[in-house]
Amino acid sequence: MDGPAFASWIRHAAELVSADAERLTRLDAAIGDGDHGHNLHRGFTAAVAALPDGAPPGKVLVAAGRAIVSKTGGASGPLYGTALRRAGKALGDAAEADAAALGAALKAALDGVQELGQANEGDKTMIDALAPAVAAYEAALADGADLAACVRAASDAADAGAAATVPMQARKGRASYLGPRSVDHLDPGASSTALILRALADVTGQ
Ligand code: ADP
Ligand code: MG
Ligand code: MG
Repeated sequence: MDGPAFASWIRHAAELVSADAERLTRLDAAIGDGDHGHNLHRGFTAAVAALPDGAPPGKVLVAAGRAIVSKTGGASGPLYGTALRRAGKALGDAAEADAAALGAALKAALDGVQELGQANEGDKTMIDALAPAVAAYEAALADGADLAACVRAASDAADAGAAATVPMQARKGRASYLGPRSVDHLDPGASSTALILRALADVTGQ
């Protein structure tokens, strides 16, 4: 994947997030404050506007992450911004990312979100989509899968991970204030993480 391919990912993620903004906001209204779709629409719109022309993958992701941090309200802005910046830093100045480099970048994103948010799997957050996605990516890579197949495995695992948040009780973020009343709802952040990884699968699978 070269710089323009990463820019295409961010653009397509912005499209999917904006198309689903109302659904994400409705999920957040049930167990949070009803702004998740709005937050991400704003953040990814800013990320698309900040995409540098002719830059390598790492610079594309760092620019997108910075824009998201500066323009996105709520807990998710700093978390997604950190994820993209860390992924970008992991990619460095290389002109292209192969399957191993993209896997290392996704792992760096996960580590960044966990350092900042201190959430673990089972806490009903975006980690419940991102952690299984990274694990599935690494397993596919170890099996010799190519980049597109690794990303497809990650995207499928993120979908399953997001769905698995429904019976969980939230232990991090705003939803944790509801205690047991957070059970029986899909976590909005896990759902948006699955969308962002589906966007990556769409652009790499073509
Ligand atoms: P806010 O809750 O501040 O309004 P958003 O609605 O944009 O922010 O985002 C809420 C989502 O952020 C949650 O659904 C959850 O997935 C994610 N989240 C919240 N706190 C954390 C955390 N500490 N670690 C990881 N993800 C978190
Ligand atoms: Mg919210
Ligand atoms: Mg909010």
